[in-house]
Amino acid sequence: MTTNRQWIFTSRPQGMVSAANFEYRETPLADAPLQTGDVLVRNQMFSLIPAQRTWMNADSEYFPPIPLGAPVTAVAAGEVIKSANPALPVGTRVSGLTAWEDFTLIKGERMTVSPLPEGVDLIQALSVFGGNAMTGYLGLMKVGLPKAGETVVVTGAAGSTGATVVQTARLKGCKVIGIAGGPEKCKWLREVCHVEAIDYKNENVAERLKALAPKGVDVFFDNVGGVIMQDVIDQMALHGRVALCGQISQYNTPGPAVGPRDMFRLISQRLRVQGFLVSDLMAHRPEALADLQQWVKDGKFAYKADVREGFKKLPTTYAELFTGGNDGTLLLRADA
Ligand code: NAP
Repeated sequence: MTTNRQWIFTSRPQGMVSAANFEYRETPLADAPLQTGDVLVRNQMFSLIPAQRTWMNADSEYFPPIPLGAPVTAVAAGEVIKSANPALPVGTRVSGLTAWEDFTLIKGERMTVSPLPEGVDLIQALSVFGGNAMTGYLGLMKVGLPKAGETVVVTGAAGSTGATVVQTARLKGCKVIGIAGGPEKCKWLREVCHVEAIDYKNENVAERLKALAPKGVDVFFDNVGGVIMQDVIDQMALHGRVALCGQISQYNTPGPAVGPRDMFRLISQRLRVQGFLVSDLMAHRPEALADLQQWVKDGKFAYKADVREGFKKLPTTYAELFTGGNDGTLLLRADA
């Protein structure tokens, strides 16, 4: 009998998510034959993403709330180990939506995994060529609409999504300022990504922005929300664009997220503010992949994966996203 290790979602966090919201279980893996179209996936590498925290809320809006008593909905990469789907035979390496468990049955009528591109390993599939990278590239190019020579500001700049944005903007000819927490992350932005950096934990963001972008910010790609968002909006140039990607500073705060306090600034500067979900933009994925693959091949594009080990550490590792404990795309390899 094969055992399926699972992390079950047992209570909705009221504030900061913690290990107390989950329960570890070992259940026997059902041996029933698959129905036509179904596949059984062995999850080998989990991608820990901030959006999961919003799915834990009962009023999760764009994605169904994770049901209490079910394994935690998650993004992962792994291998098809049983198949009744000719498009995904046994042995196919896949990534997509699964759950915090060793084995996930994916139903044919709601196929949530797809094959990895040839030559891409599990880490790359979840980092430099994964969902966050698509978000960063496509959110910038299709929502931020940067032009060469413009000034682009990115929050959460040293993270998985943010690092894609800063480097894409630089490689497209923009002047880039990344905002991140701590000297090490800012050093990495300056020395490896070759962009300006502001350490929001140790510097006055408003003052540094004025100094670094005296003519204003043309494109603001926001991953964070809250106070820093206001600081950047205060420095926007005429006809600037704001691509609202995420609000991680607000995900563990009950109640509505904090918004810009001075809406008139949007009028006086004729700003365009647009929220987006990467799923809206996936038709353009080939364009993003082509650029990213070429830049990686040419050694022009850096990426960091913070790979942790051990299935049992999923909940405690997950919480680190909200304190900046991750250094790059936060991944967790499920041990055997
Ligand atoms: P990540 O940036 O790799 O990791 C999260 C980082 O957020 C932390 O390392 C930390 O960096 C920063 N952070 C955490 N709490 C913060 C706070 N209170 N104030 C300021 N910064 C804080 O994570 P990711 O997966 O790439 O996600 C980044 C953002 O993109 C999230 O908001 C996520 O929801 C959003 N996203 C949106 C879409 C979409 O379709 N719209 C898709 C993917 C991701 P520091 O150490 O620098 O503080």
